[in-house]
Amino acid sequence: MTAIPLPYGDDPDTKGFWDAAREKRLVVQRCKACGHCQFPPHPFCARCARDETEWVDASGRGQVWSFGIAHGPTLPGFQDLVPYPMIVVELDDHPSIRMVGSLVAAPDAPINSVPASAIRIGLPVDVTFTAVSDDITLPRWMPRASESLTP
Ligand SMILES: [Zn+2]
Repeated sequence: MTAIPLPYGDDPDTKGFWDAAREKRLVVQRCKACGHCQFPPHPFCARCARDETEWVDASGRGQVWSFGIAHGPTLPGFQDLVPYPMIVVELDDHPSIRMVGSLVAAPDAPINSVPASAIRIGLPVDVTFTAVSDDITLPRWMPRASESLTP
């Protein structure tokens, strides 16, 4: 199996996100000047254009805002996993923020572990973290424990 491509954890705009993920914390970027929270991170605030931002913890709770099913072709390392879902999560505590991610049945389960028939808009999800290298831990999403995976 080909290794999956990994993000660059030392990019100055995203380093804080990956550092927090390695500590199993989900963070978003907040502008120190106006308080605007944003994701993905930028070198400046998307609202007021100031360049002083900080990382703040997010609850890691959200709901499926949208989803799609990848059938391929895909990036190297994902060919053997199709079809698999890709979801967009709206964060409960930052509803203006939506994150693209993987939906998995268990913390270390493969990205094709949740059948498409079990996914719906509004499905409550919680973040989980999977270390894929010494430097990179990926935030991924699991259906909330109270949710059944059966369609
Ligand atoms: Zn701002």
